[in-house]
Amino acid sequence: MLSTRDAELAHAFVEASSDALIVADDRGRILFANASAEALLGHEPGSLRSHEVDELVPARFHQHRQQREEFAADPHPRPMGRGLELFARHAAGHEIPVDIALTPIVVGGRRLIGCALRDLRGRSQGPDALRIQATALRSAANGIVITDKQGYITWVNPAACTITGYRAFELIGQHTRILKSGHHDPAFYKAIWETITRGETWSGTIVNRRKDGTLCDEQQTIAPVSDDQGWVTHFIAIKQDVTEQRRTQSALAAAHAELAARLVEIESLNSMLREQAVRDPLTGLHNRRFLHESIEREIARAARSGQPMAVVALDLDHFKAVNDVHGHAAGDAVLRHVGLLLRSHVRASDLACRTGGEEFAVVLPGSPLPIALDRAEAWRTALAAAPVETAGTAVACTMSVGVALLHAEGETFEQCWARADGALYRAKQQGRNRVVCAED
Ligand code: GH3
Ligand code: MG
Ligand code: MG
Repeated sequence: MLSTRDAELAHAFVEASSDALIVADDRGRILFANASAEALLGHEPGSLRSHEVDELVPARFHQHRQQREEFAADPHPRPMGRGLELFARHAAGHEIPVDIALTPIVVGGRRLIGCALRDLRGRSQGPDALRIQATALRSAANGIVITDKQGYITWVNPAACTITGYRAFELIGQHTRILKSGHHDPAFYKAIWETITRGETWSGTIVNRRKDGTLCDEQQTIAPVSDDQGWVTHFIAIKQDVTEQRRTQSALAAAHAELAARLVEIESLNSMLREQAVRDPLTGLHNRRFLHESIEREIARAARSGQPMAVVALDLDHFKAVNDVHGHAAGDAVLRHVGLLLRSHVRASDLACRTGGEEFAVVLPGSPLPIALDRAEAWRTALAAAPVETAGTAVACTMSVGVALLHAEGETFEQCWARADGALYRAKQQGRNRVVCAED
């Protein structure tokens, strides 16, 4: 038991101590804080009591509560986090670097925790911390090069030697221009220099030259180091050799470009094949397959729009005789001529096809019967009007035509086509070189 005098001494010492002293219970509630604690942490005198110690810890140390509970379960005197940087939270929100020692105490049978905080601001780091940091820099996987403010190298770590191919003694004392590759223009270096002498950090890729003359892509961050007055005294460059990575990337990009080009080629080849599959090579008209593939869509569209649709069947007259008299090549020339005739006298929406040897079909969406008959008549007269000139021979040829209008009430193409074909048959019977309209 303390004498009154001892208690007074202890109290005076605790209150006057320059260390911040806090006593908390095992649930983290503050029971006592001396004047230094309140001054250090920015609280009004006497106001820290009944606060939670967790409030004095910056939010980023979210594991603190759990650590405090562990300590309460197994209390023993210890410095907190030796070798680590600890911070306390000031009432204004900023952080203060502190050293913390924890001591379990028992008062009136209650287990309490005594906590001493020492303000570390303005202290130079202890030799331990410097040694640890130097080791970290030396063993870093990234190359680290420190220069004076003129750019003369004062320190390098082993990774920087590995990247550049120089030994440390060959680099120290040299200007960083020893690594220049000639790959960048002066403006590039000027921009870096202006950034870092302004006190800002520069990041980017620099192509340097290794001791053996090979080029090296270095991903670099260069940071200026300032003294207490804010004057730049040194620069620290942290570098990573990304040569391989870049090479792989550009190889990948080239492979991608090659692949894209091949895809375009294949795509155009495909569309050519698709086009070929639905075209008649002799006349350039669509073929029977295309007609069958598109006709359902055309009929549905006509039904939707309520527009009429005419179907025209054409067959060249006595074409066998054309071949027999003038030869197959002349027959082909006539077929090409008819193809041209049909192609140049149809609208974009019309569907002109060569359905077989010397047989053609034209679907005319939007055409009522009189118009379809007029157009069929125009084709017939155009062919009959003048013989087809081929290889010095004039080949006369005519066509017979049957025209039918698609019945609006759900007639199929086959049914309509059969009626057009029937009309064509009658045109043949009636003497050929004529247009006949389906009657039903
Ligand atoms: P019709 O007036 O009754 O139609 O008589 P046609 O001689 O035209 O009748 P047919 O159907 O018997 O003859 C069609 C001919 O068309 C037979 C065939 O030699 C010819 N032909 C079919 N395809 C081609 C081709 O691609 N080129 C050429 N030159 N002739 C073809
Ligand atoms: Mg025929
Ligand atoms: Mg014929």
